[in-house]
Amino acid sequence: MTPTDRDAARSGGHVALGGSYDAALAGDPEVASILAAELDRQRTTVQLIASENFTSRAVLAATASVLTNKYSEGYPGRRYYGGNVYADEVESLACDRATALFGAEHANVQPHSGASANLAAYLALVEPGDTILAMRLDQGGHLTHGSPVSITGKTYRFVAYGVTPAAPDGSGERIDLDQVRDLARRERPRLIVAGTTAYSRIIDPRPFREIADEVGALFMFDAAHPAGLIAGGAHPSPVGIADVVTFTTHKTLRGPRGGAILCSSDRARAVDAAVFPGLQGGPLEHVIAAKAVAFAEAGRPEFKEYAAQVVRNAAALADSLVSERFRLVAGGTENHQVIVDLRAFDPDLTGKVAQEVLDRGGITCNRNQIPDDPRSPFVTSGLRLGTPAETTAGMLEAEMAVIGSLLARVLRHRDDPEAVEAVRAEVRELCARFDPYPTAWVESPS
Ligand SMILES: *Cc1c(COP(=O)(O)O)cnc(C)c1O
Repeated sequence: MTPTDRDAARSGGHVALGGSYDAALAGDPEVASILAAELDRQRTTVQLIASENFTSRAVLAATASVLTNKYSEGYPGRRYYGGNVYADEVESLACDRATALFGAEHANVQPHSGASANLAAYLALVEPGDTILAMRLDQGGHLTHGSPVSITGKTYRFVAYGVTPAAPDGSGERIDLDQVRDLARRERPRLIVAGTTAYSRIIDPRPFREIADEVGALFMFDAAHPAGLIAGGAHPSPVGIADVVTFTTHKTLRGPRGGAILCSSDRARAVDAAVFPGLQGGPLEHVIAAKAVAFAEAGRPEFKEYAAQVVRNAAALADSLVSERFRLVAGGTENHQVIVDLRAFDPDLTGKVAQEVLDRGGITCNRNQIPDDPRSPFVTSGLRLGTPAETTAGMLEAEMAVIGSLLARVLRHRDDPEAVEAVRAEVRELCARFDPYPTAWVESPS
């Protein structure tokens, strides 16, 4: 957003969240104006960050509720403080909805984030120093899968698998299950982790289960990204196959920021004890209320259609980028993500420069390493794009094709500020037609 955009948003009379909460912020114009500007940014630029979404107004309202005032250490019926009758009700409801949505025996909805959920799962399943087999960060894995800068990499002995080499026909850059099996046989891990943060293909949990069983390992599926696709029936479910499933509630699932863990009844005690008191103090019951709202929303028939459309939109975006002569990692997509290798489009263009110029053009995304990237994680040769947010806003395949061509135009004319500004104007028009938070419920301060 340019300074002019920001000034316009701040003086434009839109307030941050809609509803009564905005009026309450009138007494703090500094924070109110920042929130108003952020709302404007979300409404007037294209959101292609694969891990982001636009929550419903109901999710926003629950997140902004008085449950933020409540201390509820412990679990429903077993709290350490008084006054937890409604915290108990809302957390039980969230757990019931999560288990129903995913067909799981047990849910823990207290993890503050996906990272916390993963730490709790490790705490429940393995001992410090144990060997864990997980995906390499630079091939699509997550920091909490053993990066040396993460507490996970400092606490456990991680061994990493990756993807198969790139193939001209696009059949490469898939999780290398032969490597997973070989490493599992050689290293005898206590735990095998499946799950990725930058990977555009379906992850079938069954071969991981077979390998884990062969070597006597436990199996954890980190569904942080595809949780909404799984809930909506667009991707295979790891529930009942993996020993523990962790996920975030704010990515494709479209709930508040947070994490959750699913497991069978016999692991419930260990998982619950790992979250509290093992890792966290008081749970965020206001966020748990919002998780309950999101689980109910994700159980509706419309959400099935949403999940399918997210995948169709990613495929349409991928097609459009291929026609602009980008190379796509793994040859395309089966989920909500497209990983773009910028080198075929322009060998001099880095992910860092691309991300920055796209920001100026109103297209928000993140740079990302591609498998065997010659550039550092800070610079990178790739971009990660995702469709969950703009699909929520109502965009379909036709809009994805438009976005693909606008994106290519910005990158081709990145040294021409007028061309970038022209794209910014087109993006603004497009976003006006697909407003995630229409003014109908954005009240003006009176
Ligand atoms: C996003 C993500 C996480 C972490 O979630 P946070 O809420 O950011 O902590 C963990 N694992 C994977 C695979 C992810 O993509």
